[in-house]
Amino acid sequence: MTRQAIIDATLPDGSRADVVIDGERVVEVGPGVGAAVEARVEAAGGLLLPAYIDTHIHLDKVLIRDQLVEHDGTLRGAIEAIHAAKRAYTVDDVRRRAAEVIRCSVLTGTTRLRSHVDVDTVGGLVPIEGVLAAARDCAGIAEVRTIAFPQEGILRDPGTAELMVAAMEAGADVVGGMPHWEQGEDDQREHVRWCFELARRFDADVDMHVDETDDGSVRTLAMVVDETERTGWQGRVTVGHVCALSAADDDYAARVIAGCAGAGIVVVSNPVTNLVLQGRGDHGLVRRGTTRVRELLAAGVGVAFGQDCVQDGFYPFGRGDLLEVALVSAHAAQLTTGAELRQALAAVTTVPATAWRLGDSYGVSAGARADLQLYAAAGWPEVLRLQDPPRAVWFRGRTVARTTVQRELLG
Ligand SMILES: [Zn+2]
Repeated sequence: MTRQAIIDATLPDGSRADVVIDGERVVEVGPGVGAAVEARVEAAGGLLLPAYIDTHIHLDKVLIRDQLVEHDGTLRGAIEAIHAAKRAYTVDDVRRRAAEVIRCSVLTGTTRLRSHVDVDTVGGLVPIEGVLAAARDCAGIAEVRTIAFPQEGILRDPGTAELMVAAMEAGADVVGGMPHWEQGEDDQREHVRWCFELARRFDADVDMHVDETDDGSVRTLAMVVDETERTGWQGRVTVGHVCALSAADDDYAARVIAGCAGAGIVVVSNPVTNLVLQGRGDHGLVRRGTTRVRELLAAGVGVAFGQDCVQDGFYPFGRGDLLEVALVSAHAAQLTTGAELRQALAAVTTVPATAWRLGDSYGVSAGARADLQLYAAAGWPEVLRLQDPPRAVWFRGRTVARTTVQRELLG
């Protein structure tokens, strides 16, 4: 692959520079360093970001909304509404739908996706086989990792434990979980313990759905913090949704947030889905299911934002566009100052990179893998406000997407 240069870009830190790519990697960043390179893209001061990482999406479920019966809009309603569709999945059907959303994601600047994939006795291993096939189909434009996700519980869905092992053997990268879905605290604790044991057996990271409920008395986040410390899995654990924390008492919240910070746990908030899903039984003041983002950030916990759902039983919208996710999430979490807007950017870039343990291979810096995206606007607040897609997207140093926006005001 030839060398190429992006000329006069605004970098995430606000400085202006050229960026030289050689093969898969960024090799030089600095004013004028691209002058001698023949293949050039003129950035004209546009913002150059590392490509987004969507670290919480459900690719097996995407684009099935039209097949489902209408339900009451709750998490339980959505899970049950999906059963019939899940029973009828074929590997090819999952593969085709997942690939479509991966391609949409790339067009809007995401080149890494980590998908939870249902593993249970309803769909068996069909969803994981379909998503793994889509990941292979799309390996030239994006890197997709998978999480074996026991959507129906483990203890309450006998047979799932064996399927979870089989999913890890089939190539799933990360062990998922959904402890709050079990009946009673003993079963929840056993669910957490069992998932960490599986993670240790496969030397895998852990990424669980945690307390996706309005019930502020549910405590599985504390169980995950305890188990992370007991097993020495610090820095290898992500928790998603964590809605109940917003309804929990302040003393518990402060304690468990400090526990997350101490154990290096990354929290993924998914406001786009949870804003429509949670608080369905409330009147007047409606709980909106967004976790305590500002308190987590203040305590030094890494907070990521994920798309979670695209046109499925849980959420009728979504297009794999993390710029949209960042904007909705900034509204939900009340992120408005300059520093807070930078945290909204980190939530779709550097924080998920931490959860993936990418280290120096992520970013707009020499040595990083050249997964990049270039915007027309010069700064992140304007990119976030205007919501125009990136002009160009690079994956492993190759340009994999380009978008031209043309608007004409007539009259
Ligand atoms: Zn989810």
